Amino acid sequence: MRYSLIFLCLLTAGISKAQSAKKIHHNAILVDTHNDFLSKAVEDHVVFDSDLKGITQTDLKRIREGGVKVQVWSIFCDDHYGKGSAFKFASQELDSLFAIAGRNPKTMQIVYSYREIMRAIANHKLACLSGVEGGHMIEDNLDYIDSFYKRGVRYMTLSWNNSTSWSTSAMDESQHAFIVTSYGLNDFGKQVVRKMNQLGMIVDVSHVGEKTFSDVIATTTKPVIASHSSVYALCPVFRNLKDDQIKAIAKNGGVIQVNFYSEFLDSTYGGKIDAFIKLHQNEFDSIAMSKNSGMTAGVYFSRKYKNEYESMRPPFSVLLDHIDYIVKLVGVDYVGLGSDFDGIDSAPVGLDGVEDFPKITEGLVKRGYSESDIKKILGENFLRVLKANEN
Ligand SMILES: [Zn+2]
Repeated sequence: MRYSLIFLCLLTAGISKAQSAKKIHHNAILVDTHNDFLSKAVEDHVVFDSDLKGITQTDLKRIREGGVKVQVWSIFCDDHYGKGSAFKFASQELDSLFAIAGRNPKTMQIVYSYREIMRAIANHKLACLSGVEGGHMIEDNLDYIDSFYKRGVRYMTLSWNNSTSWSTSAMDESQHAFIVTSYGLNDFGKQVVRKMNQLGMIVDVSHVGEKTFSDVIATTTKPVIASHSSVYALCPVFRNLKDDQIKAIAKNGGVIQVNFYSEFLDSTYGGKIDAFIKLHQNEFDSIAMSKNSGMTAGVYFSRKYKNEYESMRPPFSVLLDHIDYIVKLVGVDYVGLGSDFDGIDSAPVGLDGVEDFPKITEGLVKRGYSESDIKKILGENFLRVLKANEN
C-alpha cells in the first residue's frame, strides 16, 4: 500500500513536470542561431515546405512542431569559393531564403530587428534572420558587409574552417602545418569588427582561432556570440571553447550557443567515427573525392551505414551537461542553443531534428532549472545580445 502510494506520487510528479515543461516551451521564445538547411537544400535539391522527415533534419512543418520561433539561417559556402565567387554564392543562398519565405507568407517572415522579431512571433510566424558563416564571403570588401546587412544578415562568423587574409581560423591555428605571417586579426580584420559593431551585425566567434578570438574581444565594443560552439573542457576538440574564452564572452556580455554535433559534445565520439571510417577507408575516400568534400561524404556515409552511426550516438544527457557546465562556470545569462542541424551527420540520441527541441526543455526542467532560467537559455540570452548590437 505504502509503496503504491509512493509510486503514485512519483508518477504524478513526473506528469506535472512534463506538463510544466510543455507550458514553458510553448511560452518561451525559442531561438536557434545556426541551421544549415539552405546549403542542404542546394546539395540535395529538397524543398523546405515539403515533408522531409528521414531526408533532412529540418522542414517547415517540423520546425513549427519543435516550437522554434526565431531561426537564424546559415549562409555558407566553403573555401572552394573565393574572390569573384563567394559573395555571389552567398547572395544566391539569401535569394533562396527569400524565395522560401515568399512562398510561405502565412508562416514565415524575414525580419530585420528585435522589434520585427517580436511582431512576427505575435503573428505566429517563424522569424527568419541569417548569419554568414565565413568571412571569405565578403571577399575583403567592407561594402559587402553593408549588402549582407541590408538583406537581414545579423551575424557573421569571422572565419569558417578556412582562415581569411585578415583572420585565422581555429582549424588553421590549431594545426601546426599551417604557415601564416601573423595570427589573429590584422588591421583590416579590426576594421571588419568595427564596421559590424557600427552596423549592428553581431560578431560570431565560432570557428575562429584563439588568437583571433582574443583580438576580437579586445576590439569589439558590442557583445559577441559563438553561434554554434560547445565546451572544450568536456570535449576537447579545436572547435570548442576553453574556459577562459567562455569567461571572456560572459564578461563581454555575449552568449555561447551550444552546438548539437556529437563530435563536439562527446569526447569519445571522434575516436569511434575514425575507427569506423578506417574500416571503410577506400570507400570513404572515393565518396569524398566524388562529393568534393569530406563533410558531405560524412553525411552520405552516415546514411549508408545508418545502423552503425546510430549505435555510436552519445546519450541525450551530454547536451545538457554542456549547458550545465557553462551555467556553473559563468551563470545562466550566457548560454543558448545553436543546433547546427543539417550541417551535422550525428546528434545525441533523441535529437533527430528540429522537432525535438521540446526534449531540451524537458531535460532542463528535470535538472531543476527554473522557468525564467529556461527561457533565458532557449532564446532570451541571444535576444539580449541582438538588442545590444542594434543601434
Ligand atoms: Zn560551422
